[in-house]
Amino acid sequence: MTHSKNNHSQVSIVSEKLAAIRNRHFDVVVIGAGPAGSLAGIHLMQQDIGRRVLLIDKATFPRDKTCGCCINHAALRELEVIGAEAMVECAGGPNINDVQLYFKRQRTRIELHRTKALSRGLLDSKLTGEFTRHGGIFLDGVAGQVEESEADNERLVTLRSSTESITISTDAVVIATGLKHQSGLKGESWYQPQVASNARIGLATRTFRNADRFKPNRLHMGIAKHGYVGLVHLEDGSLDIAAAVDANFVKHEGGPQAAMNSLLFGSDMPTLDVAAEDLRFTGTPLLTQRQEYVAGEGVYLAGDAAGYVEPFTGEGIGWAMASGRTVADVVDKVLSGQLTHQAAAQMWNDEYRRMLGGRQGVCRWVATALRHPLWVRTAISMLRIAPPIARPFTRRISRPYITT
Ligand SMILES: Cc1cc2nc3c(=O)[nH]c(=O)nc-3n(C[C@H](O)[C@H](O)[C@H](O)COP(=O)(O)OP(=O)(O)OC[C@H]3O[C@@H](n4cnc5c(N)ncnc54)[C@H](O)[C@@H]3O)c2cc1C
Repeated sequence: MTHSKNNHSQVSIVSEKLAAIRNRHFDVVVIGAGPAGSLAGIHLMQQDIGRRVLLIDKATFPRDKTCGCCINHAALRELEVIGAEAMVECAGGPNINDVQLYFKRQRTRIELHRTKALSRGLLDSKLTGEFTRHGGIFLDGVAGQVEESEADNERLVTLRSSTESITISTDAVVIATGLKHQSGLKGESWYQPQVASNARIGLATRTFRNADRFKPNRLHMGIAKHGYVGLVHLEDGSLDIAAAVDANFVKHEGGPQAAMNSLLFGSDMPTLDVAAEDLRFTGTPLLTQRQEYVAGEGVYLAGDAAGYVEPFTGEGIGWAMASGRTVADVVDKVLSGQLTHQAAAQMWNDEYRRMLGGRQGVCRWVATALRHPLWVRTAISMLRIAPPIARPFTRRISRPYITT
């Protein structure tokens, strides 16, 4: 009864908000309120406080997200840039000082440079709060789809709630919808997502049970034949468990819970009594995806929507935030008349490649190496003898995208 009452009031709030924007034109519509979308929205509002920016998300917030929840140095630096450096600490996000790797009977520990953990429900809600504090409009429970427009320099976006849909016009659209393919873009010639043939899927859950079997302030990372799993304590003492795993293995094991248990067992981690409770899992589509082009006329992809490599090195949130900031700079140049959409699309394509530089190459290399037990064993043996050899590597993948 209470649940359906809450549902009913959520539906009428969304309805009222949609009615309020029905005939409005927006400078920018951002679709997807993960770190990429929120950061794009925040930077667009910081550049011009009078700007009309709409941020929408199909999920009702706060929402869970399949993620290891580690926030690295690069991501923390992006929060400093928007003036929200205390956000993670104030929300109770613990420091993560090191990562312990488990592979068969081998273990080794690597120091981490400036890393924290925070549940994605909390992080992403705080970021949308920051966006509205800057004067942007945020609508959750509303899915967006880009439509073709007859008019030059204008895009149409259809907004759909569970009960109604409206179409609004905008100068530019930032698509930050994560890994899911964009049905609205399928007709556009530049939009050609490619998925790697050996791509894994993501799975995650959260539990209080047996959390004390794992040392806090540490990322515990197990590597097994069919995937890898990371465990970390969050702000409330619960354990976030996230994995990248072969989809066929999940089927073969009979579902996410059994597959997660097998990964833990296979990587010789402290046993976790996950079989004793019915865990709720979230999942992702296939993880390793790339895009040849990340922009078309008036439409710009950011974050995971622009391309993604498996999450072992844990830099997705930092990358999403940095791409949100940079795409906002490019869109700002269109709104202020310095660039045409065509020139801006080219600029974002070039900038995207430059920013990613060697980083995705390193992640791709790590993802490949993890599929070769001999390479993993050799790397772990070397790290046990001389742990400092990992330092340049961990610093490189978490180094900030912004240096000033
Ligand atoms: C198993 C796993 C572990 C990971 N661990 C880490 C880690 O420890 N540290 C780290 O930095 N990164 C990690 N990552 C990567 C990280 O989660 C992503 O890179 C990051 O969330 C990308 O942010 P984003 O804003 O691009 O997309 P997302 O965070 O996926 O947000 C996209 C949003 O778009 C919304 N959306 C989708 N379609 C629509 C639509 N049509 N209309 C409206 N809204 C829509 C979704 O509801 C969602 O809220 C991990 C990933 C996986 C799979």
